[in-house]
Amino acid sequence: MAIKLNENIQKIETSLIRRFNDKAVKENAELFLTLGEPAFDTPDCVKEACVKALYENKTHYGPNTGIKELREKVAKFEREKNNLDYTADEVMITNGSTEALTSALFTILNPGDEVIIPTPAFLLYEMIITYTGAKAVFMDISENDFQISAEMLEKHITDKTKAIIVTSPNNPSGTIFNADTLNNIKNAVKGKDIFVICDECYNQLVFTESRPQSFCNFKDMRDQIIVCQSFSKPYAMTGWRLGYMMAPDFIIKHAMKAHQFMTVSAGTFIQYAGLAALDFDPSEFVATYKRRRDYVYDRLVKMGLDVVKPEGTFYIFPSIKKFGMTSLEFCEKLLKEKSVVIIPGTAFGTEGHIRISFCVSDEVIEKALDRLEDFVKNLPVKE
Ligand code: PLP
Repeated sequence: MAIKLNENIQKIETSLIRRFNDKAVKENAELFLTLGEPAFDTPDCVKEACVKALYENKTHYGPNTGIKELREKVAKFEREKNNLDYTADEVMITNGSTEALTSALFTILNPGDEVIIPTPAFLLYEMIITYTGAKAVFMDISENDFQISAEMLEKHITDKTKAIIVTSPNNPSGTIFNADTLNNIKNAVKGKDIFVICDECYNQLVFTESRPQSFCNFKDMRDQIIVCQSFSKPYAMTGWRLGYMMAPDFIIKHAMKAHQFMTVSAGTFIQYAGLAALDFDPSEFVATYKRRRDYVYDRLVKMGLDVVKPEGTFYIFPSIKKFGMTSLEFCEKLLKEKSVVIIPGTAFGTEGHIRISFCVSDEVIEKALDRLEDFVKNLPVKE
């Protein structure tokens, strides 16, 4: 007998990024530029802090919103590094930013609400939104150099809009929202019953001279902003599952219930490792990603692909429209003929592009691009 399950969970699909990657693993493909998984190891200072915490028996339940030391350190770190003013009580430590995003969306959404997702985007958001019974509304920004105009917002905001997701730097395009985009969003939502969810997961992995402005810096909009942050990418800590959410007290006090019932808290000894991570300077990682960004960008341009130069992250998102194939067809053919694995743009809600992740080794990148060049050379241009 099939007992009925939750209707919303059945509408949700597993991540195409993972599905495509796993299919290629099964087929014994050779070169993977798929996941957002830094090839660097977690810094030793973080591992040592974790081992120390284990031997000090920091292995018991911790406070729901996180150990006080880490919440205080996050608040100080965010003040000094990003000029953000949140108290330790406005910080909630989570199991990765995935859980911060889930807690945030569970806290603010009601069935029927709409959430604007500028695409291309990391589609985890869509899954969480669907689960709550709200509706993800895609706003395609791929034809506008991945920036958002006032007209686009006007077209997509309705009286049902409850939130907009702002991911900058962006996965998969690697672009950073410029001042015009940030102001356009501000003008469109300020003072309305609309939250701005700032996914700041990649804000330490930027290649610009100075630290870019973030939407979170609009202090006059503090009550509408929820910040979600991760230890995964800047500190090569994807498997540790550590992140945090920052928001005013009237949000945190409810978000902590979602968090409490899903996970109780982040792992106690892992939070002690998180204290050490905040002292680690990831600038060597960033320098490596920047060097690879330049290399990958130059090679793609030489291959004749249309591509916007990423200003952060470790992804690049060239257009393949001129070949007249879907992004899935392109990636499947590349996998079959060259054993190179990259992710179709549809996994991010945008057809006609492919995502190449350059957080893998130089050697893998070079070999994969040699093969991609060869592949592209032999593809007929349809335009
Ligand atoms: N947000 C973005 C934009 C991402 O790319 C990812 C992971 O790739 C996440 C959130 C989730 O990261 P984590 O749960 O590891 O902190």
